[in-house]
Amino acid sequence: MISATTLCKELINVNGLVVDDVEFFSNKYEELCILIKVHLRKGLQWKCPVCGRRYTEIYDAPYEHKRWRALDFGGILVYIEAYLPRIRCKEHGVKTADVPWAFPNSNFTKDFDYTVTWMGKYLNHSAISKSMRIDWRTVGRCIARVHEDLEPDVNCRLDGVVKIGIDETSYRKGHSYITVVVNHETNTVIWAAKDHGKSVLQKFCEQLTPEQRSSIKVVTGDGARWITDCVKEYFPNAERCVDPFHVVEWATEALDKVRIAAWRRALETAKSVAVSRGQGRPGKDDTEAQIAAAAKKKADQIKKSMYSLGKAPEHLTQSQAVRLEMIARSDNQLYRAYLLKESLRLIFQIDDVDEAEEALIAWVKWARHCRIAEFVELQRKIMRHKDHILNTIRLDVSNARIEATNNKIKLLIRQAYGFHDVDNMIHMVMLYCSDLKIPLPNRGTREGSFSQAA
Ligand SMILES: [Zn+2]
Repeated sequence: MISATTLCKELINVNGLVVDDVEFFSNKYEELCILIKVHLRKGLQWKCPVCGRRYTEIYDAPYEHKRWRALDFGGILVYIEAYLPRIRCKEHGVKTADVPWAFPNSNFTKDFDYTVTWMGKYLNHSAISKSMRIDWRTVGRCIARVHEDLEPDVNCRLDGVVKIGIDETSYRKGHSYITVVVNHETNTVIWAAKDHGKSVLQKFCEQLTPEQRSSIKVVTGDGARWITDCVKEYFPNAERCVDPFHVVEWATEALDKVRIAAWRRALETAKSVAVSRGQGRPGKDDTEAQIAAAAKKKADQIKKSMYSLGKAPEHLTQSQAVRLEMIARSDNQLYRAYLLKESLRLIFQIDDVDEAEEALIAWVKWARHCRIAEFVELQRKIMRHKDHILNTIRLDVSNARIEATNNKIKLLIRQAYGFHDVDNMIHMVMLYCSDLKIPLPNRGTREGSFSQAA
């Protein structure tokens, strides 16, 4: 039979560890905990956390003994306790000594940090916080430590990049933004920073070495003027493109304004018929009731039609298709606005740039004369960005993956809702939108396949 100390050594899984004592205790929530008291074998003791140099002399011991939370053992909370002094490194000064089972300044083991980080890729933070029994702010700190461990030099992501996309995403309900730069060829985030606007993008541009700058040939983004200005200033040999999903978004926004106006009109009609009925005009009640009901139904259909109008027709559910059909029959203006949005979207599916240009010019002509103010306005915006739109098609950056990456970032931020530390959020975006693999403890040789034991 294996002894308790052997079991505990295996649980912590660190070479050169000596287990001095194991005891149970109850925490303040009356949960059972195991406390494993350890020390490191002599030759392994007291490393500088920065350079890894070993020191035999301690400086002082402000903590005396420190506790780290380890992964649970069958629901029992596990803590490691060790004597932790400070050392004086000749290069880095006085530092708390490094221990092999935890990252510096962490109260959790590395296995714990890695497990939380792996979960963060798939679960929202409150679910992780409940299942791991940690404060949800700790989730962000675990992720930040793991990212720093997996990728000590983030700047190497900036080497040899050819096509980049710039986007800003709001977090905390639209009050705060982060700017994210994506490598279109790998669909990974290569840079992210707090705030948005020209000054943030300039920070990115100035951080690049001349070689890194010259390798960039394509820059995509929304229609913002400052992106165009930065491209001219920092990447004079690069082509400026507009992300197709932004252009479609402009059209969808214009369409939604038309929809809301149509809904208000239908509602007014329904109300005015109802009012005239209320004033009582005998004999006409039945027809007026029908008109009122029809107007009310139309208003309801329009109100519910946001998704039907916004979606591509091939993705409509049956009831959404019916709603669209109803609009086609009852509201000519709204339906035309919908057709304008759809045909603009389809231009990005044309491969041939000359054909696309022809289609775009035809679209602009149509929109200019459509007598829908929102689309007349949009047409002007499209004309201003015509060259950028055609660049997008010519250079084939019009694929759906760009939007997928963008949505992934938005989803990540939603999962981490309530983030107070932007730096940790940036670590999260950099880590999860990359090729970095997050290992879990004790996974042996299996690679994703799991036996189906009952
Ligand atoms: Zn050092």
